[in-house]
Amino acid sequence: MSSHPSIPRPEDEAARLEALRRYGTLDSAADPDFDFLAEMAAVVCDVPYAFISLVDADRVWFKSAFGTQAQQMPRDDDYCSWAILEDRGLHIPNLTADARTAYSPLTISEPHYQMYCGANLITSDGYRIGTLCVMDTQMRALSGQQVRLLTRLASQVMALIELRAKDRELSAALSVMQKLATYDDLTGLLNRRALLARLQEEVDRARRIVHPLSIIMLDLDHFKQINDSHGHLAGDVVLHGVGKFLRERLRVTDSAGRYGGEEICLILPGTSLDDATAVAEKLRQALATAEFVTSGGSIAATASFGVVAGQPGPNLNPGDLLAAADDAMYSAKKNGRNRVEAGEEI
Ligand code: GH3
Ligand code: MG
Ligand code: MG
Repeated sequence: MSSHPSIPRPEDEAARLEALRRYGTLDSAADPDFDFLAEMAAVVCDVPYAFISLVDADRVWFKSAFGTQAQQMPRDDDYCSWAILEDRGLHIPNLTADARTAYSPLTISEPHYQMYCGANLITSDGYRIGTLCVMDTQMRALSGQQVRLLTRLASQVMALIELRAKDRELSAALSVMQKLATYDDLTGLLNRRALLARLQEEVDRARRIVHPLSIIMLDLDHFKQINDSHGHLAGDVVLHGVGKFLRERLRVTDSAGRYGGEEICLILPGTSLDDATAVAEKLRQALATAEFVTSGGSIAATASFGVVAGQPGPNLNPGDLLAAADDAMYSAKKNGRNRVEAGEEI
């Protein structure tokens, strides 16, 4: 704790801190672009120390520190806490002669700073969140040109803080969009478009590395009846549950996608027709004993499965695989439902 009096807080302190935190810069990883701007400030002002300082509630955190390894300081020990009380910044050519700084720890002990100049980092909505500042252990006044250039560099620091924040926002939004564009909301499985794209990739891969590729098509049995007797919302709960059921049981290399309303396609790379048929049979049995809990009670559901395998060759293509899997699935419907039919190897 510092022994000297605490530095006054700006009137807009709460909103200022909120603005600072919005940028997500505090405690972020080192960034050479910020280090470059701090070094530029030191060179322009011909001083050994430069900092990009963010004035947080109780500390000043350095986004960059040139000339020292320091990472942060107690707020009441840092000259920048005085600077942000001013409009544009603060220049104190003789720290020992200024009542605000004469007894600061860094003035009276190592490294015995004698000069401070900080240009405020001002957000687009007018909050002073920190400074680009320089220090010297010799008493001296910076030239008008140096102060002007330091102020311009501070604007560049602020622009970079805003750019990094925008980048982070954009990549977060992009990953949300990618998820929305790839997955089906209700089942959590791939949507039809992503499923077809994945199938094309797996067909290409099967042909390249010459391994079999199996597909299982499954369609829930008498789903119209489930909707009719329990309501469409309960039907949705069952579909959601079936999606989760499948996601929990597939290998990481397998894919599952919603091909149609309650028709789901599984892609099993490197899997023979026999093995895929065994997988389908296991899933069929497990599904038949599963219960899906809705607000109106538990609902059981079964499905009919069609299985096909494609042998890698010039004629292997997604369309034929899907059509054959669909045919096999319809045979399972025709032959009594809640069963697995294996089609030909194609
Ligand atoms: P079958 O055993 O022959 O498959 O009988 P089925 O009643 O399941 O017939 P079909 O597969 O042709 O019908 C699918 C039904 O699934 C019709 C449709 O209203 C319903 N369905 C499709 N998508 C959804 C959905 O997202 N939510 C709900 N609740 N129902 C859906
Ligand atoms: Mg159905
Ligand atoms: Mg259907």
